Amino acid sequence: MPSSGRRVIIRKAEYDYRTLRPVFFGIMDSIGGGGIARSSRVVIKPNLLAPAPPEKAIVTHPLVVKAAVEYVLERGAFPIISDSPAMGSFEKVLKESGIRDALEGLPVEYREFRESAQVAAGVPFRTLSIARDALDADILINLPKLKTHAQMLLTLGVKNLFGCIVGLSKPEWHFRTGVDREMFARLLVEVYKAVKPSFSVLDGILAMEGQGPGRSGVPREIGVLMGSSDAVALDEAVCGMLGIKPEELLTCRAARDMGLAGEAISIDGEAPFVRDFRLPSVGSLVFGPKWLHGGLRRHFVQRPASDDEACALCGECWKYCPAQAIKRKGRKLRFDYDKCIRCYCCIEVCPHGALRAVDTLPGKLLRKITKR
Ligand code: SF4
Ligand code: SF4
Repeated sequence: MPSSGRRVIIRKAEYDYRTLRPVFFGIMDSIGGGGIARSSRVVIKPNLLAPAPPEKAIVTHPLVVKAAVEYVLERGAFPIISDSPAMGSFEKVLKESGIRDALEGLPVEYREFRESAQVAAGVPFRTLSIARDALDADILINLPKLKTHAQMLLTLGVKNLFGCIVGLSKPEWHFRTGVDREMFARLLVEVYKAVKPSFSVLDGILAMEGQGPGRSGVPREIGVLMGSSDAVALDEAVCGMLGIKPEELLTCRAARDMGLAGEAISIDGEAPFVRDFRLPSVGSLVFGPKWLHGGLRRHFVQRPASDDEACALCGECWKYCPAQAIKRKGRKLRFDYDKCIRCYCCIEVCPHGALRAVDTLPGKLLRKITKR
């Protein structure tokens, strides 16, 4: 029998608060939310990637956040909304996402993750700096959004917790893990282990497909809320719903290798049939024969490129790039592909959807030959 921790609840839902609230409450009750103690400090961590309205499907929907806040308040506990957005100010994201308006009048605290504390982590990281507020919370409720991710395939429960790494430490970590997505997935699982969310409820009502997780992605209605006390199990269940093998999602694979995903998951509810969900074109970073790995790799790996028509020269990408590989030259962007570590952070943060990952010519040929 799977343990109750690997149980995933799936319920149909829509953004109509009269029906969404009881569905959310039912999921929380089923995964142990009733045990939230009076007066406890409950950090609620939505996906607040960037300032964007709910219909873009970039951030967790404000009504899902509202349901989480009211659930916590009903237990006599103190809700705190926290995150460290990849771009834009915390306040701007709260405003443009509609969260400020949705929560008007509710006694809730907003606290951007700012201070970090060191925690021990496995090889090769040894220590990680993680938001102190996430570590010190009595309870952490993780509210991921179901989205594609150009670097990691999908961003779900485990990946959402990368927001517990404060501000500019995020691109620093991309830089340290370099082009190695498997290493980055291990880092994400280490963050998950450190913050140990008590509950994860995923907003899959209006999801995102295509070149997510930012404005290059395309909203796609799926109509579900999914919850679990085990975010890895939740992610495995989402993979099943989308017709992806869990081991294809590197965070699930890393979690299994790190001993966090041994038992089978049990599903309570019925997942909708999701036909032809469009995944991003994530080029493998370590394809081809071994002798090609290393120095030559940079010629074969997909690289970021800009659409000059769509680019507004706003500067977000070059401010965020951890390798300082982007420069403006006149009305265009120039990439230094020798410096670029292929983290695709620039694609993630571009507010105009002007960047994508494109194959190099040698990469295309190699993929054809090796059928990768
Ligand atoms: S590519 Fe995007 S983020 Fe970079 S300058 Fe252009 S619009 Fe801004
Ligand atoms: S150019 Fe883009 S993909 Fe390359 S290092 Fe900078 S942010 Fe990462």
